[in-house]
Amino acid sequence: MRRGFKTWCETTAEKYRTALRLKPVHPLDPVELATHLGVIVWRPEDVPELSEESRRQLTNHDSDSWSAVTIRDGGTSLTIVNSAHAPTRQRSSLTHELAHLILDHEPGRIDLSPAGHLLLSSFEQEQEDEADWLSGTLLVPRAGLAIAYRSAQDPRILANSFGVSVDMLNWRLRMTGVATQARRARNWSR
Ligand SMILES: [Zn+2]
Repeated sequence: MRRGFKTWCETTAEKYRTALRLKPVHPLDPVELATHLGVIVWRPEDVPELSEESRRQLTNHDSDSWSAVTIRDGGTSLTIVNSAHAPTRQRSSLTHELAHLILDHEPGRIDLSPAGHLLLSSFEQEQEDEADWLSGTLLVPRAGLAIAYRSAQDPRILANSFGVSVDMLNWRLRMTGVATQARRARNWSR
């Protein structure tokens, strides 16, 4: 990852969270962030020209093959989120897509096959890693996690208060070093 990128993510996340009047410990609602960024958010059932078969394909049969996709047309961005997934996963998927936009990555393309199926293309791995990192920081900023960790160390409680999955919360705990730092501070004061 680019040098200084992680610090830039914390600063950027703080900027957007402040614009949404959120304290570092508050959960971020990605739909509000989307509105702030001028991004329209749809579920597959909102797509007017999607055939019933494609919609079923996306939400039932093939629901694990995609999480969200963003289409950019001129100045307008539209993100479709897979409504078949758990709420925490939908929030994470939407934030990930918004992170791509904030990072000004070239959006993935969406094509229709001759049979009317949606073909989704993806970003390069480096851009995926960057979007993951920024979305994790937007949802669970280091400063907020450090504060919250003082009153609760249980990842389930913390995950719940940030509105993310336990996996995501544990990942942020490891990556930010918050848990390690708190442990060291405890040992030091003994
Ligand atoms: Zn992505």
